[in-house]
Amino acid sequence: MLSIDVFTSDYKPIAATAPGWDARQRATWPASTATLVHGRREAALVDALITAEEARDLTEWIRATGKILTTVYVTHGHADHFLGLSVVLDAFPDAVAVALPEVVPHAEEQLSAPYLAYWESLFPGRLPHRHVCPRPLDGDVIDVDGHELRPVRVGQSDTDPSTVVHVPDLDAVVGGDVAYNGIHMWLAQTDRTARDRWQRALDVVEDLRPHRLVAGHQPPGADETDPAGVIAASRRYLSDFDAAVRAGDSAADVIRTMTAAHGERGNPYTLYVSATSQYPAGAS
Ligand SMILES: [Zn+2]
Repeated sequence: MLSIDVFTSDYKPIAATAPGWDARQRATWPASTATLVHGRREAALVDALITAEEARDLTEWIRATGKILTTVYVTHGHADHFLGLSVVLDAFPDAVAVALPEVVPHAEEQLSAPYLAYWESLFPGRLPHRHVCPRPLDGDVIDVDGHELRPVRVGQSDTDPSTVVHVPDLDAVVGGDVAYNGIHMWLAQTDRTARDRWQRALDVVEDLRPHRLVAGHQPPGADETDPAGVIAASRRYLSDFDAAVRAGDSAADVIRTMTAAHGERGNPYTLYVSATSQYPAGAS
């Protein structure tokens, strides 16, 4: 018998701004999850957060379960989902960190100097000092006490390649960044074609017909029992953003339209960055 428990790190202040952002308001990084899938003895963790402090809290939380952590699986190559790995592995040295082979080079790139400098600028002095890159997963399942966790390729989410983890025994999907629950979606690295492909990624999750969906970004206490609702809301966000970019003349227009339609979502800073990215400086 498997169980799932979710560790959520709340919104974190970041040292950043964006065009149009009111500097009197502190910009934040979205609330993020790390998910423990565990059996009687063993456990696997999906994603590992970013700051040293939250990774230490995560480690304590895992330790308190008394389970043997065998595996940390990284859903996609964005550093906010795996820079905490070194802290987790220091605490559980027998665990291995893995990702699908095509995700590994992307994770490696995030550990290069320019990317690390970017992340350090957002979280000055708060990142772990040592960095670990996940290694390619052998085969296509992760075993927890004889039960299967299945990584599933979905292609594009807020980056490509992206994956989710299907837990068939529990009809559950640990969804990485494919669906966002109650938080503005990171569209800064997407254009219209990519957002179309992101809709196909949501098809893949939908086809798994999960009863529980854990989003990589969701606020503490988020409802995980309405995957269809979360998927539909993510679809709407993508298509509304497309329509806003098509209809708008500027990032400010997109921010206004999206705030009116989706202003209940957390982390408005994300929307400012996403909207700004659609109007590169100097483009007409
Ligand atoms: Zn993310």
